[in-house]
Amino acid sequence: MELHDQEKTDSSYYKRLFEGIRQFKANEFIPRQQFFEELGQKQNPHTLFIGCSDSRVVPSLITQTFPGELFVVRNIANLIPYYKKDSDTYLATTAAIEFAVKQMNVSNIVVCGHSNCGGCAALNQDKELKHLPHTKKWMELAHPVKKIIEEKIAKNKISPEQRSLFTEQLNIVEQVNHLLKYSYIRKRVKEGNLNVMGWYYHIEKGEIYNYNRNLRRFIRIE
Ligand SMILES: [Zn+2]
Repeated sequence: MELHDQEKTDSSYYKRLFEGIRQFKANEFIPRQQFFEELGQKQNPHTLFIGCSDSRVVPSLITQTFPGELFVVRNIANLIPYYKKDSDTYLATTAAIEFAVKQMNVSNIVVCGHSNCGGCAALNQDKELKHLPHTKKWMELAHPVKKIIEEKIAKNKISPEQRSLFTEQLNIVEQVNHLLKYSYIRKRVKEGNLNVMGWYYHIEKGEIYNYNRNLRRFIRIE
């Protein structure tokens, strides 16, 4: 399956979506009707998956999970707002986290970043975001990451070529740290009722690396 730019600009492109809906009904729904009927009654997801909005990151595909298993939050560059008890900002993300943990009682949280992330790349090119004021504001949540990377480059600890990879991976670690500052998450982790993970998805290789907090590095999931 390959989608070309020419097809994308075609005004009849919606037909591809409609055809997909017909195929879903025939190939997925009908053979598993009982599953969907039971699923329709309630959800009981075991994992909160926080990933990038990037079209190439498909949570249920890379984890081979069924509908009902993942409670998903996706935003640009898989960012977690700083915890503030009475905050009224970034609610789409913080409310989803709160609902998954406090209401759905998920037992895992995954923060999943990925290779060649446009959000992380934009972090290094502030000026290019002038025409995208909301994106620019959103990406401010990752400015501490940008600062650390710039310091490392200045001290020759990483080369400019390694910048993207380090930004993407450090961003995952930082966002997990933000999550662990949420009091209700910290409490559940301490009690052993919640497992918080940081994943790096390498798209071309089809590999996922899990962050090991003790070793302070990403280890490929075998
Ligand atoms: Zn991304």
